[in-house]
Order: sequence, then C-alpha cells, then structure tokens
Amino acid sequence: MIDFDKTTSFDDFSHSDLIDHVKDCMDCDLHKERQNVVFNSGNPNANLMLIGEGPGQQEDEEGLPFVGRSGQLLTKILESVGINRDDIYIANTVKCRPPKNRTPLQSEMDACRDYLIRQIQVVKPKIICPLGSAAIKSVLGPTDPITKIRGQWITKSVNYMDDDLYVMPIFHPAYLLRYASKEKGAPKWLTWQDMKEVKAALSFYDIMSK
Ligand code: URA
Ligand code: SF4
Repeated sequence: MIDFDKTTSFDDFSHSDLIDHVKDCMDCDLHKERQNVVFNSGNPNANLMLIGEGPGQQEDEEGLPFVGRSGQLLTKILESVGINRDDIYIANTVKCRPPKNRTPLQSEMDACRDYLIRQIQVVKPKIICPLGSAAIKSVLGPTDPITKIRGQWITKSVNYMDDDLYVMPIFHPAYLLRYASKEKGAPKWLTWQDMKEVKAALSFYDIMSK
C-alpha cells in the first residue's frame, strides 16, 4: 500500500490503493460509530459519477452506497432511463455514517473531501451528478439553492484536475421519497427529466470512448 498524503501525485495510486487507505481512516469523528467505510460501488472506469451525501444504516452495515430505501428509488430512476447502476460509479460526500443519519457537518465534509477529490482524479468521470445539497457543496462550493441549479449543466474549473468538471446537480432521492407526486413539475418528474439529459450525454461519451 502506498503511503500517500495530500501532495502525492494522483498518477501514483490506483483505486484499490485508495480503498486500502480509506478503510483505516480516522480523520474525523465519524469513524467512531461506523461499522464499515462506504467508499463506492460500480465501475471505477465509468464515464458517470453520482455522489450522494453519506451512508445510512443499511449502507453502513453492508459497506455499499445507496442500498437502502433511497438507493432502491435511485436504482429505479436510473433503470427508467436505461442506466445500469453497475456500469456507473457511485460515491458519497462522507464515507462513514453520520449518527442518526444527520447531515454531515462542514468539518466532516472537509475532512473527507480529499477522498472525494482522489476518487474524481482516479475515475476521471466525464459527467458528475451531485445528489442533494451536501454533495453539491463539496463539488461546486457555495452555489444558488438546489431548486435553482438542479438540471443545469455546470462547467467547473478545479485545481485538482486538468480538465474542467462537467456537472449536473440533481435532487437527492431521499427528498423525492417525501413527495409522492409524479405530476409534471413535481420533484420526481423533474429528476426524471434531469436523468434523461444525463443519459443522453452519457450515450454520447460512451460512443466516443469506444
Ligand atoms: N443516502 C446517501 O446520500 N448515500 C447513501 O449511500 C445512501 C443514502
Ligand atoms: Fe475518514 Fe471520511 Fe470516515 Fe471521516 S468520514 S473518518 S474523513 S473516511
């Protein structure tokens, strides 16, 4: 295992090096109550990266992101536009479960952000979808509220990648669970439109990279 720190070039490590490193992480207090570090699921060579907020109870138990109720809805939404969740890469803003599923503190997000950055560096996704406000903040910094920016393509230049990030913010599936309506204009409907846009862009990149 490499002993990387913040100055280690990302060409020097692989995805499995990262996992080796994160599984013993104690960089914030969230390590105290975790059962498992939840680092990712899916394909580390994917063109699309989804970023959630943080593991819930079931994710903490299984060590995988989005396997509980929100995850089931996310899987359905992805399938409805023809995306198989095993073909994409799924990560979280913080890798350890916040107690009682509270929103991660800014200090916890800051502590874990290095890992998120490393994930972006290793996966090099063509498209990033932060799901909900915490992930949006971690990827884009301060922005307008999610209700304003969801569904918009945002190009973001960052100091940790050569290429700009290409980002579409989307509602978090836990938010969608609170609104049953599928009517035009309701959060579920809006998210479906957003996912269709993401699928169209993804198909383009998948064809180009063949
Ligand atoms: N919610 C998240 O944000 N991430 C998960 O992994 C599960 C639920
Ligand atoms: Fe480390 Fe992130 Fe877990 Fe905090 S949440 S202990 S920074 S892996």
